[in-house]
Amino acid sequence: MPHKIMDFRSDTVTRPSDEMRRAMALAEVGDDIYEDDPTSNELNRYAAELTGKEAAIFACSGTMGNLLAFLTAGSHGESLLAGKRSHVWCAEVGGFSAIAGMCPYPLTDDDGIPKPEEIAAQNRADGNIHHPQTTILALENTHNYTGGIAVPPDKFAAAARAGKSLGFHVHLDGARIFNAAVRCGVDVKEFTKEVDSVQFCLSKGLGAPLGSMLCGTRDFIERAKRWRKRIGGAQRQLGIAAAGGLYALKNNIERLAEDHDNARYLAELLKKGGVPVEEVPGMTNMIFFPLKDGQVSDDDFEKKCLEKGMLAHMIEPRRVRLVTHIDIDREDVERAAAIVLEVLSA
Ligand SMILES: *Cc1c(COP(=O)(O)O)cnc(C)c1O
Repeated sequence: MPHKIMDFRSDTVTRPSDEMRRAMALAEVGDDIYEDDPTSNELNRYAAELTGKEAAIFACSGTMGNLLAFLTAGSHGESLLAGKRSHVWCAEVGGFSAIAGMCPYPLTDDDGIPKPEEIAAQNRADGNIHHPQTTILALENTHNYTGGIAVPPDKFAAAARAGKSLGFHVHLDGARIFNAAVRCGVDVKEFTKEVDSVQFCLSKGLGAPLGSMLCGTRDFIERAKRWRKRIGGAQRQLGIAAAGGLYALKNNIERLAEDHDNARYLAELLKKGGVPVEEVPGMTNMIFFPLKDGQVSDDDFEKKCLEKGMLAHMIEPRRVRLVTHIDIDREDVERAAAIVLEVLSA
């Protein structure tokens, strides 16, 4: 029997398991806009409980969850501090300025998190009539573009507290915050207690087909709900999607450790074969390595990997990202390492 195509492009590619599909098919539903969808209400309650917040709402995507936070906590012409390599800055099509009307100030986040001193130095909440007043600090954990780094609780808290002490709304883009919690061996509240709002994705390593949760105070979430309605993100029989999310949160958090082990194993196998895999502290479920001068072109790398049975992703020119997830097992990792080494040596 031919092998399946192994998909290492992202953890967004996970397919819902049979059990998750069953939970979704059988979900009790209502109309979430009337707030009488019991499964959606239960997901909101459960997400708020897990993150230690008063309330939560479902967003269609992580991008929408982050945007709702910015729309709710900020205003046109105010400034938002975010890392230069953060997802909100690099990969959300400029939504914070295009839609929320905010003016971004970049922070250095090459280690996955900006330094407290730099947060203070970029502050424009100084009453100066010329300045766009800073109102939001956006942090990210795990930090995708720098290597899937799980920023440890103490470093994370230092950055968040620097923002709080200046009176900013501190938002966590926690698309993969459960990967960070599992990697650091702490309850997710160790991170979420430091921030005013958090967005996390159900649709990545947790294995649900869609959706993200935005969590915060009751008042904040009530206001975010209006924004969600305004931008067309409110849903009706949401319980079908919510059931997938609930299943993911109840079954798939602890197992993220397997994805981290598999990524580490993949890195080891590639390094043994001479591939200069990027070394990062707090590595989670993704590995990165450069294509050297004289090696295959970016397009050929993807094409030749696919011919041999795996999908890989060039996250930037000459930089490969491979991600492990619930549909990748140890045997897949061994096959993938062999394929990559073969393609690179050709
Ligand atoms: C994927 C991702 C998002 C956005 O999620 P979508 O559901 O793809 O919109 C936000 N932040 C980070 C760090 C991500 O990796």
